[in-house]
Amino acid sequence: MSMWQIRIYDMKHFWDKNYHLMELVKEVQDEPEFGSVFEINGKTYRSCASSPMNKVLGVQQITLNDDPEEQYDDDFKCPYCGETYDDAWELSADDGTIECSNCHSEIEYTREHTVTYSVNPVKMVEVVKL
Ligand SMILES: [Zn+2]
Repeated sequence: MSMWQIRIYDMKHFWDKNYHLMELVKEVQDEPEFGSVFEINGKTYRSCASSPMNKVLGVQQITLNDDPEEQYDDDFKCPYCGETYDDAWELSADDGTIECSNCHSEIEYTREHTVTYSVNPVKMVEVVKL
């Protein structure tokens, strides 16, 4: 039986089934679980696409911070992989726990609202002279 090939994901090559043009990272006997994060030769990879028929798993290298600290930022950023969520405002709750869509780590968040006022003069009150 042929081995599964873990290769650096390239959308075009994957789509065209030109798997051999994607850099080979490792060959494994058993099907790697799609969605998992893998450590291969000291580097960390996340799964991007899988072709069970051709036994190819496309992966992307990521950097995981295994001991992140709580952070305050204007951006919603995964403390583990640094992925920024531009659509964090779509999170319905102001706090909660989500799974990072990039590295699948669990993140707890609290959204803080900052309100600023923009004030423009329109018409000053008429002063009655007596
Ligand atoms: Zn992440």
